[in-house]
Amino acid sequence: MAKGLTTTILHADRQSEIEHGAVHKPMHPAVAFGYRSSRDLAAVFQGERPGHVYGRQGNPTTAALEAKVSLMERAVGTVCFSTGMAAIGSMLVALLRKGDHLVSSQFLFGNTNSLLQTLAAIGVEVTLADATDAGAIERALRPETRLVFVETIANPATQIADLAAIGDLCAARGVLYVVDSTMTSPWLFQPVSVKASLVVHSLTKWIGGHGNALGGSVSDTGLYDWTKYPHIAAPYRKGNPANWGLQQIRKKGLRDIGATLSAEHAHRLSVGAETLALRLDKASANALALATWLQAQPGVARVAYPGLPSHPQHARARDWFRRFGGLMAFELREGIDCFDFLDALQVVIKSSHLGDTRTLAIPVSHTIFFEMGAAQRVQMGIGESLIRLSVGIEDYDDLQGDFEQALAKVAA
Ligand SMILES: *Cc1c(COP(=O)(O)O)cnc(C)c1O
Repeated sequence: MAKGLTTTILHADRQSEIEHGAVHKPMHPAVAFGYRSSRDLAAVFQGERPGHVYGRQGNPTTAALEAKVSLMERAVGTVCFSTGMAAIGSMLVALLRKGDHLVSSQFLFGNTNSLLQTLAAIGVEVTLADATDAGAIERALRPETRLVFVETIANPATQIADLAAIGDLCAARGVLYVVDSTMTSPWLFQPVSVKASLVVHSLTKWIGGHGNALGGSVSDTGLYDWTKYPHIAAPYRKGNPANWGLQQIRKKGLRDIGATLSAEHAHRLSVGAETLALRLDKASANALALATWLQAQPGVARVAYPGLPSHPQHARARDWFRRFGGLMAFELREGIDCFDFLDALQVVIKSSHLGDTRTLAIPVSHTIFFEMGAAQRVQMGIGESLIRLSVGIEDYDDLQGDFEQALAKVAA
């Protein structure tokens, strides 16, 4: 019988060999893995038998986390990396060549946008379109389009991509469909349900959840037919075609780029993931109550939160996601200085990062979206006084109380 997500995570390590009965997969910091038989060593190198050879290409602790992420996403396999950006960057470098075209969303996490510009500078064609409308993505497709990359709930302004229609479009055209589900996590949404080919996570955020370890992952849902992908190198066109893409992402991604997740951080992320559902339920409940309260305050001009009926894609969020998540963005009324307001907060921490147990706030245009300049911020829907809020699991009254006193202070 299929188990629930939390039961699955808690008992995942025991599905493989249990070392000393330990309930956690032990930490394996070894860089080198030795074999009694040199033939065995060669067989592992050639992919003829499972095993580890060198720590840059993974270790047993990271492999246990990969198995866990695969279970959470109903995926055929997962490769972990040292950060979310390492996962996205390594995956794209492993799959794309000069002259290839990719389509992504104009509402995109700033660092991913920056990465796409870097790829454009070295010969990958990039088109950014309004991913809330599958028609805009369709118009951007070309014969040489290799993949479409979107986020579920865009960071920071919470636009929700036309996930299901883009999934149908990519399936019909045979285009690889990559979904960054960091903001939703497998507890709120499984991208396989909208025909995603690859699912990306920054494990640093909700899955790890405690702001104490960086990590990223790429999972293959098994829906994409890799025999149709033009750039799978001969050594990875072996065995079940469902594994070809991930074989190349693992081999080329980890070997060539080397942004490997360490055993210690894999362990921390695994332990964090055990409470994913508990944390995200609480953060979502806090966020919905806070967004509802904030939008009624005279000092607040607008609130973007998928759980509010005023959100342009509220119906999608309600239909597709278990809850509305912990991320929101809001703007204060004209005349209230966003720095003064943030400095008046006492419980909420002024910090980048999101998906933490603690509530974090940041003035977006002045920090994470500063470098790109005003013109691009307009295109990405980022207002100059926008504040991004990642709601944590604090007791709700303490959060509302903090915003109440801060608003009173700046209104005075
Ligand atoms: C944070 C984030 C990333 C990058 O993850 P890191 O672990 O910080 O490198 C990628 N995508 C989204 C949507 C994010 O929020």
